[in-house]
Amino acid sequence: MTEVTTRPAVLILLGPPGAGKGTQARMLEERFGLVQLSTGDLLRAAVAAGTEAGRAAQSVMEAGGLVSDDIVLAILKDRMAEPDVAKGVILDGFPRTAGQAAALDALLAAEGREVTAAISLEVDDAAMIARVAGRYTCATCGEGYHDQFKTPAIAGTCDKCGGTAFKRRADDTAETAGARLAAYHAQTAPLIAYYEGKGVLERIDAMGAIEEISAALSSIVSRVSA
Ligand code: AMP
Repeated sequence: MTEVTTRPAVLILLGPPGAGKGTQARMLEERFGLVQLSTGDLLRAAVAAGTEAGRAAQSVMEAGGLVSDDIVLAILKDRMAEPDVAKGVILDGFPRTAGQAAALDALLAAEGREVTAAISLEVDDAAMIARVAGRYTCATCGEGYHDQFKTPAIAGTCDKCGGTAFKRRADDTAETAGARLAAYHAQTAPLIAYYEGKGVLERIDAMGAIEEISAALSSIVSRVSA
């Protein structure tokens, strides 16, 4: 894929679990040279490493709730201080609360920056539970698959890298997906209006094919970061 050069952008992908934020963030990372910053990935790494933050976050994540703003902001700030972030970032799964959105604004304002665009991936709730409950990824390259909707061309072999080991997230079950969807509606969906008020909201119908959503997203990113 050809990389398109743009000025450093701060893009937010908003949407419930299963909307395709991770898949699309990875596509934008390849196409635009942006850095994907997923607080879910950072928290899973903290859990795996057994850090204090990871230990505090683990049970909340397993129950499908939201980890406290204090913990999330601490790990986000550390990551935002790394030099690669200067290339521009796609925030995947952050902010998820009004407090996180305000903290992000303050963090960026301190550097004379602001959110370039918040892109809301709009989907039906019922379809989201099915999407989340069957998904898994290649353990080597992270390519996403689904038991029903996207199986590898050769069973047990990753289409992208040929890897043969796959993994599933502990919280990608039908029960936890319901709790995560409820948390999204209660705490994260109000951010759509917040970014609309700031004039940086973009909406995408994210029920279609992955390639169609990627094309719509790419055209928005080209426009807002030109
Ligand atoms: P994700 O990979 O984005 O689906 O996140 C997995 C889980 O990590 C969520 O269900 C939350 O428990 C936690 N998490 C990730 N990002 C955040 C955030 N910005 N605020 C609070 N909790 C988060």
